[in-house]
Amino acid sequence: MSFTAIERIPGIVAGLRYSFDHGVTRPAAWRREQLSRLRDLLIDRAADFERALAADLGKSGTEAQLTEIGFLVAELDHALANLGGWMRPRRAGVPLALQPATARVVPEPLGVVLVIAPWNYPLMLALSPVIGALAAGNAVVIKPSELAPATAELIARVIPDTLDQRAVAVIEGAVPETTALLTERFDHIFYTGNGRVGRVVARAAAEHLTPITLELGGKSPAYVDASVPLADAAKRIVWGKFMNAGQTCVAPDYVLGTRAVLDRLAPLLADAVHELYGSAPAQNPDYGRVVNRAQFDRLIGYLDDGDIAVGGAHDAAALHIDPTVLTGVDRGARVMQEEIFGPILPLVEVAGLDDALSFVTGRDKPLAAYVFSDDTAVRERWELETSSGALAFGVPVMHLTAPELPFGGVGESGMGAYHGELSFRVFSHEKAVLAKPLRPDTLAATVMPPYTAAKDGL
Ligand code: NAD
Repeated sequence: MSFTAIERIPGIVAGLRYSFDHGVTRPAAWRREQLSRLRDLLIDRAADFERALAADLGKSGTEAQLTEIGFLVAELDHALANLGGWMRPRRAGVPLALQPATARVVPEPLGVVLVIAPWNYPLMLALSPVIGALAAGNAVVIKPSELAPATAELIARVIPDTLDQRAVAVIEGAVPETTALLTERFDHIFYTGNGRVGRVVARAAAEHLTPITLELGGKSPAYVDASVPLADAAKRIVWGKFMNAGQTCVAPDYVLGTRAVLDRLAPLLADAVHELYGSAPAQNPDYGRVVNRAQFDRLIGYLDDGDIAVGGAHDAAALHIDPTVLTGVDRGARVMQEEIFGPILPLVEVAGLDDALSFVTGRDKPLAAYVFSDDTAVRERWELETSSGALAFGVPVMHLTAPELPFGGVGESGMGAYHGELSFRVFSHEKAVLAKPLRPDTLAATVMPPYTAAKDGL
């Protein structure tokens, strides 16, 4: 992987700004063309993308299709089908005192935007924001993650041949290159990754008063009670947790339940692991691997934090950790202090619903909360009493496939949201446009001096 020379960065950004300022990206036809080309690229080069994702994360072809390539194609189809409506100015009402007048809300592109992507869904998270940025008529710098080098290199190779190079650039690099990029002035920065770097991005953005979207992570809980069929809940939790070897921002991080529920749930989770990944997950091509040695070593440290109900086997050379469920985990254990972001699922005992709610509300607001309960009163309490980027009943992860649901965090899990129309809105400025005829001169009679008693309260 060859990184972009740092001294080239200002010139690249200036080139994009020149194109934006000269209107290259504004026409609807240009936007459509870019989105269609991106769609064709994903379909025509699907095998190359799958190979890169396999090289970076041991991702299976099917999982790459479901969670990265196919997801992007669906987003592109949605954007192409709806772009006309999104771009259309909306009429706004005017109060009586302002009439006669007409008012509209006109979406306009922001300018040159920066998208910084992480390594865990290195294709989807690099390009999904770009769909919104292009649909909204912006020029874009894409900064893929250096920790998924095969995918980053492929993106850097194929995007310039596919999209309009005058308005889209890929910068390859790590911290020095990103640091250099962040000194440039952008009109929006869209960052996906961890909160530590999120703060670096926010500080850099403040220098230019650049608006930001931060898509961060956190510990997303799954609460299970006895009102649901536990084997079904276990299977869904296992699926949401162990896809991409647990390296999913919205994966259930841990499970909360009473002792009675957890005692029944633990063996069912083990059964579900066997059902989805077989008895030798290390040999199973459907199961991914940990991204690198640093993450592997961090994750292995958590294995002592509880009793292993299933899994635990690992192989440093292969960066493999079996899907692992830990029971008897203490609330203060290390595995409960930071986002796990790997294939280890701790089960944490609570006294009941109140205890579970206060456990979650006493911590940082998570990116998602998952509740497995058929009890309406229980569901209502989660909805009213907890705050998270998303709340899903009965299923993890899938909320992000509904383009009309905002996808984003709150508090420590991020700020701003995207997907579907919101991706377009994130990268647009909603301009207020008001037109009032000079005659009749209603303002003189109402708001202009000389102020008379008759004008009071108007
Ligand atoms: P990462 O290490 O790949 O970092 C993300 C990006 O930040 C990379 O492009 C990297 O080059 C850049 N970067 C790293 N250090 C930097 C620095 N000091 N200054 C400037 N740029 C820097 O990915 P990560 O942060 O390890 O990703 C994992 C985290 O992302 C997890 O917390 C996960 O929950 C979160 N995540 C969130 C979402 C979401 O949509 N909300 C999606 C995926 C991942």
